[in-house]
Amino acid sequence: MLEKEIKLERLKEECKNCHKCELGKTRNNIVFSDGSTNAKIMLIGEAPGADEDKTGIPFVGRAGKLLTKLIEESNLSREKDFYIANTVKCRPPENRVPKDEEKKECEKYLLEQIKLIQPKVIVLCGATSAKSFLGEKIKISQIRGQWFKILDNIDATVIFHPSFLLRNHSEQEGSPRWLTKNDLKKIKEFILK
Ligand code: SF4
Repeated sequence: MLEKEIKLERLKEECKNCHKCELGKTRNNIVFSDGSTNAKIMLIGEAPGADEDKTGIPFVGRAGKLLTKLIEESNLSREKDFYIANTVKCRPPENRVPKDEEKKECEKYLLEQIKLIQPKVIVLCGATSAKSFLGEKIKISQIRGQWFKILDNIDATVIFHPSFLLRNHSEQEGSPRWLTKNDLKKIKEFILK
């Protein structure tokens, strides 16, 4: 096992024993990551839901399946091209948005994951993730599709969260799903540069 994988495994073990915030009391499983540790794209979502809490894998419920479908339709591979994590590792009860103090406590793990993966681009998936890195005042509808530099000069872009897309079925030009497919295509072009 490479040093990077060993460090990630150690970090995962640390998360399994973590009770630094309230979410540690009610989780069944921590949801650490999915995808390739050699991926150029790191996607950061909001928080685990019920299916993720049950399986320990991010984005496996209905929203996750839609995300996977959109990734595949953009000729990207979820397994090879993406490393996927969330702003918090444990499920918030009733799928509420994670609180600032919970995100703050869990941030250490996420930052360490980013440091070890060294992605070429970070995809901030949904408002909670985008706000964590770009500030509370942002509006997802205004900044999705835009590109930023975050942390130590890492390129980052913003896409809609797939649970929002589940409520918006249209694939017509200009619809949220159409925009997301375009965003994913641009991300693909970027990693091929
Ligand atoms: S959400 Fe993060 S900080 Fe909170 S208990 Fe889980 S692993 Fe620890």
